Amino acid sequence: MDPILNFIDGHFVAPIEGAYLDNYCPRDGLVMGKIPDSSAADIDAAVAAAKRAFPKWKKLTRSERSDFLYRIADLIEAKIDLFAETESRDQGKPIHLARSVDIPRVIDNFRFFAGAVLHQQEKAFQSSELVLNYTRRDPMGVAGLISPWNLPLYLLTWKIAPALATGNTVVAKPSELTSMTAALLATVMVEAGLPPGVCNLVFGRGQTAGDALVGHRDVPLISFTGGTETAAAIGRRAAPLYKKMSLELGGKNPAVIFADCDLDVAVNTTLRSSFTNQGEICLCTSRLLIEDSIFEKFTGLLVDKVKALKVGDPRKADSFMGPLVSREHRDKVAGFVERAKAQGLKVLCGGESLKLSGELDGGYYYAPTILSAPDTSAEIMQQEVFGPVVTVTPFKNYEDAIAKANSTRYGLATTVWTQNLNTAHAAAADIDAGLVWINTWMLRDLRTPFGGVKDSGVGREGGDYSLEFYTEEKNICLQLAPAKA
Ligand code: NDP
Repeated sequence: MDPILNFIDGHFVAPIEGAYLDNYCPRDGLVMGKIPDSSAADIDAAVAAAKRAFPKWKKLTRSERSDFLYRIADLIEAKIDLFAETESRDQGKPIHLARSVDIPRVIDNFRFFAGAVLHQQEKAFQSSELVLNYTRRDPMGVAGLISPWNLPLYLLTWKIAPALATGNTVVAKPSELTSMTAALLATVMVEAGLPPGVCNLVFGRGQTAGDALVGHRDVPLISFTGGTETAAAIGRRAAPLYKKMSLELGGKNPAVIFADCDLDVAVNTTLRSSFTNQGEICLCTSRLLIEDSIFEKFTGLLVDKVKALKVGDPRKADSFMGPLVSREHRDKVAGFVERAKAQGLKVLCGGESLKLSGELDGGYYYAPTILSAPDTSAEIMQQEVFGPVVTVTPFKNYEDAIAKANSTRYGLATTVWTQNLNTAHAAAADIDAGLVWINTWMLRDLRTPFGGVKDSGVGREGGDYSLEFYTEEKNICLQLAPAKA
């Protein structure tokens, strides 16, 4: 099988040092291809191409840039099955999930920002009769974009689309674990006639290619989605270079389930919020905090449903969960669970790796797992697992619920389950989180601010927040002369 190639200056090129990494298929554990193990030299070439393309790209009108984005969206839509199959093969998620969530959202990302940029507004301040201040929002140059492996193309295009729409050029480094749909995107960009150098994709490892991108002098802006520890390394590298940064990081998201909730809806949605995409979504709930009086009932219903979830071949329509993304990640998840067991937490279901039969026996499957955690002190209540593992913990009253919800270093998202509007409103204010869902989960409006508090991130993306992040605001003060008599 031909290796994936970098996409630089409109061409598919081999990595300069000629090194490649094996790309493993999570469903069977077999090598299915190679991706470039790019070096700083590849990043230099990509940044130089993006820098050359910038002056012309930024001078296009918004509607000209918008047309390119609409064209890219249409071309992806025409190949949605290919994109969905490829994403599933590379990441492990069920094809039906990639077909119904990931790739439609990729298309939406391009269409949304193609439209949004046409509505972006600048400001004017009439200071006095003869003094007018107005602002411009200018693109910043070469945007450095680094994305993770859990929602590969969905999160990559959440960055690429607004960066391009606002007139920046791009150098992106997807996760080394999931490069395949990004490589397909490059072919679509060629088909769409995107000018060479406007969007460049460099594949490889974070420690080498990612680090070179973050440290590059000609990249004034870094948008990163990934782990909290990686972000600290990126911050240490980028801050002395005064780069603009957006950091979308990890979470340990609570579901706060009050006794007056609609039990059926709460159980069914919590099932989804815990185990969709094998629990590998930054927004997945991982700590279920349940009011004492319904703890046994809620937990019993959930455990029964989890035991019935099908973990299997991601190509099959009835597989709710596929394999985890990699052997290392599966082993990391298993390690968390083993240590939790050793600390005395009780396994209510799952708690082990799964070996499927036949051609899938080398795949990285893990059973959906519920652990009972009486308090918040265990490692698994504090650290992000990022897999199909949740804990259930009872709470006594509102204050206890909020204290438990806020007992980690993270603050990305929460769900609150109650029929009482006053409780919902108070909890939404009191829980440390950038996103609060009340009686629902993962309902997204792309105009809304997206991001975390505490160690879950810095900055907001989405709608105007993205358009602002990818531009620099300049104020112009104009002194007018009085009209001649
Ligand atoms: P990582 O932090 O390991 O990696 C993210 C990206 O950063 C990858 O492309 C990685 O490359 C790259 N990278 C690693 N080290 C460096 C470095 N020193 N300099 C520059 N780039 C680097 O995260 P994962 O890919 O494991 O993704 C899972 C994490 O992402 C979880 O913590 C999850 O919560 C978080 N996430 C947050 C979201 C949010 O919106 N808040 C959404 C989705 C996920 P490489 O492939 O080599 O590791």
